[in-house]
Amino acid sequence: MVVFGAALLYEETAEAFEWLCTVFFRAMSANMPQTFITDQDPAIYLAVSLVMPQTYYRLCIWHLEQNAFKHLNHIFRAHKSFPSDFSKLLYYYEYEDDFLNAWEEMLEKYDLKDNSWLKNTFAIREKWSMTYGRNVFSASMRSTQLSESFNGSLRGYLKSDLDIVQFFKHFQRAIDDKCANESKSNFDITQRISVLKVKLPLLIHAREIYNVTIFDLFEKKWERSLLVSINGFHDEGEFCKYNVSTHGSRREHVVVVKCSTKVVSCSCKLFEFSGVLCGHALKILDTLNIKDKIPDHYILKRWTKDVTNLVAMEIKVFSEGGDSKVEVSIRYRHLGQTLVQIASEASESKEGYELLAKYSNEIIAKLKEVKIKNESHESPPVPSKVLHDETIFVDSANVTKVIGLKKKQSTRRSNTRPKSFVEKTRKTKNKIQSPVSPPLQTVQHVSHLADLQAPCPPLSNATTNTG
Ligand SMILES: [Zn+2]
Repeated sequence: MVVFGAALLYEETAEAFEWLCTVFFRAMSANMPQTFITDQDPAIYLAVSLVMPQTYYRLCIWHLEQNAFKHLNHIFRAHKSFPSDFSKLLYYYEYEDDFLNAWEEMLEKYDLKDNSWLKNTFAIREKWSMTYGRNVFSASMRSTQLSESFNGSLRGYLKSDLDIVQFFKHFQRAIDDKCANESKSNFDITQRISVLKVKLPLLIHAREIYNVTIFDLFEKKWERSLLVSINGFHDEGEFCKYNVSTHGSRREHVVVVKCSTKVVSCSCKLFEFSGVLCGHALKILDTLNIKDKIPDHYILKRWTKDVTNLVAMEIKVFSEGGDSKVEVSIRYRHLGQTLVQIASEASESKEGYELLAKYSNEIIAKLKEVKIKNESHESPPVPSKVLHDETIFVDSANVTKVIGLKKKQSTRRSNTRPKSFVEKTRKTKNKIQSPVSPPLQTVQHVSHLADLQAPCPPLSNATTNTG
């Protein structure tokens, strides 16, 4: 697990989450995540859709199942076949037609046509059903499980009666421990070598390039490919289609091959979803006589051993008289990506840390010289505008002690989301707290602590805002 950042939010409104997403987006050098997984919260959904419109917003499938148990409890109890039928709608169907037909059959079979929860759930089906979501890369994740395990481990570090200074100290300890675990995991998965079950060129290549976790997964998929049969073949000119099934299963998949490039795509979409080829695709690659190496376009950099290796920076050349603000932004992003990698690599060892610290000081001194030189050629600086309504007043003698916060005029959706148990109990405590310790809540980019202890908000809350 990698913690990219953390923030304390004063309130859980769409505006607050929008700010958080914007800061996170900037911190990630404006790299938009492909997938954002959370439980149902209209405020988070609104913020993500505004700040990261191209990101696929995926609802945590575990929370959705819990909501189903709650709203359809009588159906789950009365019909043994219902859990299986409902589960198939979540995970099984590959084509939209099949999903829609199965949905209608379920409504008919269990007399659920008038069930309002199912109507609302159907309206947002693209956010939870794998029929729609298997085509988007999510590193195999469908739930907020990782985020929640982090929330759980945080409880071992934090207590509700900590003041703000103590909170930050303990929170930093939690993050330090996570970073240490991450370094250890990185070392393990990149340095450990799996023992090959079969010495074949394709597996030898996979072991050379993939980290050990992905190699083990790849090897399992390769083993599955031995059980795959080709049931049909259709030559459609530019593309060829293979109907395949795994021994012991009646389920059929279609592997499409682009004849000119030999690029394959399976209807199960495992590669698109996880970045690892499925057994069906491996079977067809073998049929196409691709036996020595995994083609480059199936190797995701993030799953390889040398993902942390640094490469030399390319120096971009900017034209004279360009848009200076745009150029500053591009330069910042370009430098930021490499410098984060350098810091990550250098912090792995004492030598690396000292080397980077030494050269950083030299660079800082040089940058000061450049700044002085540039300013001597510029007109006197204009005093910066003070934005009173955005200012957070901080006691300069103790930077961790917040002495006042902007009071929000109004909040969007704050009345529509049910208050969690944690929020309700905190509200009572706040009345007797000093104003120097405002109520604060920990927020991650995926989920939040309060949600763990609160019942899941009903789907209808999200539906009204997601359309
Ligand atoms: Zn497949």
